[in-house]
Amino acid sequence: MKVGIIGTGYVGLATGVSLCLKGNEVRFYDKDINKIKSLRESKTPFFDPELQEALVLINSKRRAFFHENLEEFMSEVEVVFISISTTIKGDFTINPLEFEELVRKIVKLAKRKIIIVFKSTITPDLYLSLENLLENSNLLSAVNPEFLREGTALKDAMSPWRIVVGTSSTESKLVMEDLYKDFRCPKVFTDPVSAIIIKYASNSFLGVKISFINEIANLCEDIGGNIADISTGIGLDPRIGRDFLRAGIGFGGPCLPKDLRIFSSFAESNGISLETIKAALRVNDVQYLKVVDKLKKHLLTLTGKYVGVFGLSFKESTDDLRNSLTIPLISKIQEAGALVKAHDFLALDKAKELLANVACSDDVFFVASESDAIVIATDWQQYRNLDWQKVLKVMKGNLVIDGRNLLNPTHMRKLGFIYEAIGKAA
Ligand code: NAD
Repeated sequence: MKVGIIGTGYVGLATGVSLCLKGNEVRFYDKDINKIKSLRESKTPFFDPELQEALVLINSKRRAFFHENLEEFMSEVEVVFISISTTIKGDFTINPLEFEELVRKIVKLAKRKIIIVFKSTITPDLYLSLENLLENSNLLSAVNPEFLREGTALKDAMSPWRIVVGTSSTESKLVMEDLYKDFRCPKVFTDPVSAIIIKYASNSFLGVKISFINEIANLCEDIGGNIADISTGIGLDPRIGRDFLRAGIGFGGPCLPKDLRIFSSFAESNGISLETIKAALRVNDVQYLKVVDKLKKHLLTLTGKYVGVFGLSFKESTDDLRNSLTIPLISKIQEAGALVKAHDFLALDKAKELLANVACSDDVFFVASESDAIVIATDWQQYRNLDWQKVLKVMKGNLVIDGRNLLNPTHMRKLGFIYEAIGKAA
């Protein structure tokens, strides 16, 4: 099939590359010409080694085409995926303008019957208003929400846990069934509103799980109990499951916080208050402050103290800093008077643009040197295997606040650290 992808971010690129690897001819368009130019040279605009390798392969086989011009892009495609960023307004509704403008342009440029597939996460009202723009054209539409995880984007796109397609058109359904016929996973074909709610409700449920375990962790800090054991004990029940039950500083990133707020605001505009989601957000909004409280508890004052922050990206295996909790966390530590140095494995270039007065380095020992405390802010597994003895040697103090519950408390204390995690009595 001749497939078009508009928006070559994490979702668009992974979707397009996976469809190309399955034998389709795929055309990519992005408003950012520099992205298109680097993709043509097989360079991904973000870190993803597997995607990078696959891009080299599909470029060498000449099955992928990268367009700077939308008209040229439109000339060949049968199905167009829209996977552009979802930007939000102050009231947590989606800014519809980019979507509307794009759909109008597609309608104008389409020379044959094509199907517009919305992969970007958008609300039901926005989808229905965009579908209205197709009236009086012979274009069809569908919703195909994306569930991939950054860090394993291509793997998830190639072998998804499920594919969800929402459409009211039998013709679109048949085309989407055909497009996804080689993907071996459960497939849910439904109406557009249900497909959209599956996406928002899934992300909301993950957010609720994280905030739930964080509340239990906070309780354990007062009354005792080991949150790691408790999470294991809860998660072994298959009705609950183990994932997303690790206590820590909360959820960040480009999707969960945004999607929960948009979903809640969308429901509110329809007269419904989604109380569990609101509660999950309330818990999450303050959870990262636990780290600042713990620093103050041990150091008494942060004025003039040095804090080394380990990890900047919103989670491991990505250089994505969008809505990373490490950014407000660093601001709060600085506001309390401390000087901050920060380490990350991938996100340093992006971080330098965002962080003021932070000495960023890819050398953990430089970041640790002369520091009164270390804060682990991202769950990079590499921090588990660090030479912590050497870290302690270069530090001025011996305090570690593990905001991701990565390390073994007994081992850390044996080495001589004052070690605190989230939800484990100190
Ligand atoms: P991204 O910011 O990485 O990429 C979006 C791309 O779209 C950018 O390259 C941007 O230049 C391009 N773009 C924006 N407006 C455009 C326009 N009008 N015309 C052409 N190109 C345009 O975004 P992403 O993380 O890939 O997310 C895309 C969508 O998928 C969002 O709705 C997001 O919520 C959703 N989503 C993201 C993830 C994730 O893990 N990142 C997972 C599932 C769903």
